Amino acid sequence: MKINRSSEYIESLKKLNLSIYYKGKRIKDVTTHAATEPHVRAAAMTYALAGQEKYKDLATTTSHLTGREISRFTHVHQNVEDLIKKVKLLRVLGQKTGTCFQRCVGFDGINAVYSVAYEIDEKHGTDYLERFKKWLTYIQDENLMVVGAMTDPKGDRSKSPTQQPDLDQYVRIVERRDDGIIIRGAKLHMTGAVNSHEILIMPTSAMDEASKDYAFVGAVPIDTPGITMIFGRQANDDRRDRREKIDSGKPRFGSVGGEAVIVFDDVFIPNERIFLNGEIEFTGTIVYRFAAHHRANYGACKTGLMDVLTGAVSYLSQIQGTAKSSHVRDKVTEMIHLSETLYSSSIACSAEGEPTPSGAYLVDTMLANVCKHNVTRFHFEVARLAVDLAGGFIATMPSEYDLKSEEVGHLVKKYLSGVAGFPVEDRIKIGRLIEAMTGGTAMVESIHGAGSPQAQRIMIFREGKLGEKIKLAKVLAGIPPRKEAPS
Ligand code: SF4
Ligand code: FE
Repeated sequence: MKINRSSEYIESLKKLNLSIYYKGKRIKDVTTHAATEPHVRAAAMTYALAGQEKYKDLATTTSHLTGREISRFTHVHQNVEDLIKKVKLLRVLGQKTGTCFQRCVGFDGINAVYSVAYEIDEKHGTDYLERFKKWLTYIQDENLMVVGAMTDPKGDRSKSPTQQPDLDQYVRIVERRDDGIIIRGAKLHMTGAVNSHEILIMPTSAMDEASKDYAFVGAVPIDTPGITMIFGRQANDDRRDRREKIDSGKPRFGSVGGEAVIVFDDVFIPNERIFLNGEIEFTGTIVYRFAAHHRANYGACKTGLMDVLTGAVSYLSQIQGTAKSSHVRDKVTEMIHLSETLYSSSIACSAEGEPTPSGAYLVDTMLANVCKHNVTRFHFEVARLAVDLAGGFIATMPSEYDLKSEEVGHLVKKYLSGVAGFPVEDRIKIGRLIEAMTGGTAMVESIHGAGSPQAQRIMIFREGKLGEKIKLAKVLAGIPPRKEAPS
């Protein structure tokens, strides 16, 4: 692995010639800019863990392509154990960063594209898998971070890609050349984009015959000419701009993944980096497999966050002298119960994983959808309980400027004190951490990341095997099989 340490990852980003805008201005260095630096640090943790003996087995593995040691984030799952180790790794990373560490998006894209490339080749005699393996070997050997780019803007959602008044609302091929394709359009909500090395571009949905120019998969280096990124605002990001150490809540890692719009303004992708080109019947499968892998993650990475939140409110209740109250213990118990329930579904969908024809393993898709769907509820319930236990001071506490003020600092210290022996600063710090982890942008990801709740409901209904369940009921009710009018 060329990038061995987190510091080398950060150095590698400095060498890129990126075009990133934030609040109307170009970011010169993502590794030092106040808006992006915390996200760089969170992603850097994926590199740091690989170097720690305790986590080496989770964070690294052996490439099935080369036999060399690689980061798990660049691996193609070869068995159920790989799937389980992945979710265990994500929980640890969630615990260590308290936020999204971003690198799973490309990881899941790699696994989806690998398995589908194999199937396209089987049907059409193409050589996508060989191309993909070459690219992936490069990613593994260099230990690069890949952003999986899937979500298109979609414009008027009642219209298909080709019916849009502005055809760029879905990323499309605008020119086919002998040596590759030129693409145009944008991807929204791209977690970790500004601090990745490569973009793996995938279609956003199943495509029909008319939408062939929208049906492609390809990879480009992040600083390819024609790529511009616009980094999103987050709740309280002004606190970060001013480098407020306490009031930003989680100054080291930020409170959410760090998302960007990626614009492709006539970007060239050479043939050797194209892994699907017009085979529309496979576009839905790519989306489906990517979504399943990513949904499986949420019961692990978000459980890591819930572990931190549970620890934060427990510590705060010690500071506030409420730790021994039965209702506090009961609510903390509920937080733990909900977190472990979510984690169980991440483990379950991994344990029930099966090989695709390529040999790459895929999680149980029904359980993965259930897992993510529960995150859209349980994480909010855990956050609600955390806010309930923390009390109203989360919304009203004075700033760190007042805490440090010569005029009023002593008043803040006197009236925000708790149990003797706990510094007031600790109470405010932990309060700000809870504020950052329960409010604003932080919780949106648990609803919409890896697909909005309705996307999971569609899959859960589709995969619910209702016909089989009806049969079970009929047998027990003693209703004989007969030909029935379709419902
Ligand atoms: Fe990984 Fe979770 Fe962030 Fe998705 S939300 S990229 S699974 S840490
Ligand atoms: Fe996400």
